[in-house]
Amino acid sequence: MDSGVRFTLKFWGVRGSIPTPQVENLRYGGNTTCLEICAPGHQPMVIDAGSGARLLGSALIAEPLITMLFTHFHWDHIQGLPFFAPMFRKESAVTLASSQPPQDLRDVFNAMLRAPFHPIDFDSFSAVTELLQVAEPWHHAGFEIRPFALHHPQGATGYRFERDGAVLVHASDHEHGDALADRTLQDHARKADVLVYDAQYTPQEYEGQKGRGHSTWLAAIKLAAMADVKRLVLFHHDPSHSDDVLDGILAEAQQEFPQTILAREGDVLEF
Ligand SMILES: [Zn+2]
Ligand SMILES: [Zn+2]
Repeated sequence: MDSGVRFTLKFWGVRGSIPTPQVENLRYGGNTTCLEICAPGHQPMVIDAGSGARLLGSALIAEPLITMLFTHFHWDHIQGLPFFAPMFRKESAVTLASSQPPQDLRDVFNAMLRAPFHPIDFDSFSAVTELLQVAEPWHHAGFEIRPFALHHPQGATGYRFERDGAVLVHASDHEHGDALADRTLQDHARKADVLVYDAQYTPQEYEGQKGRGHSTWLAAIKLAAMADVKRLVLFHHDPSHSDDVLDGILAEAQQEFPQTILAREGDVLEF
């Protein structure tokens, strides 16, 4: 029977910058960024391969087809890739995709996965069958996917996923304040069912961190209100933010935009 669910979103890693497996962070989770988005009857898509990709790989071990979509190639978004078990399974076919040309993707992973940094080189990842540059729009795995540029050192790509009128916008990593990038993001996020947004800093912390490529919960709620977003997910939590700090951020954000939640490892949203 049709459950009416158009897609699910699961958080496998919600932390920015570096894994933080200390006890005071474990309620929200210490793994770096990794999400799974899946339309019923279609192959799962993975957004970024931070350290959360290790557990996700175990969950997807029997999947014959998997697509992994990258926002950019900073360590916190790729460090789990060598531990994503389906990569080494001959029954699996994994497509790696980004907004960059396929050769750029190959160059990144060749540079990362070689001596003296890693014992197994990229060519040994036998399940990788395709490297792909995301076109605009891209129809894949049951979605229409639109990439767009975020404001981040060395660049990052946001993605808008739409299926049967339900919309998810993923915007990490992004620093607010660039007029063109903010406008583009706002246009893509308009009336989205859910916006996942880089809220690494508090507004006070941000004053000392300008130019590092990340945003705040305050910029998140302003954007969500302007774009008329139905649900805002604060994401890419700072390594120094314990669960208690994050609870405080959530309470402040919800006062101004009640439909705000915090990304938490293991949580599943249905649309
Ligand atoms: Zn990041
Ligand atoms: Zn980054």
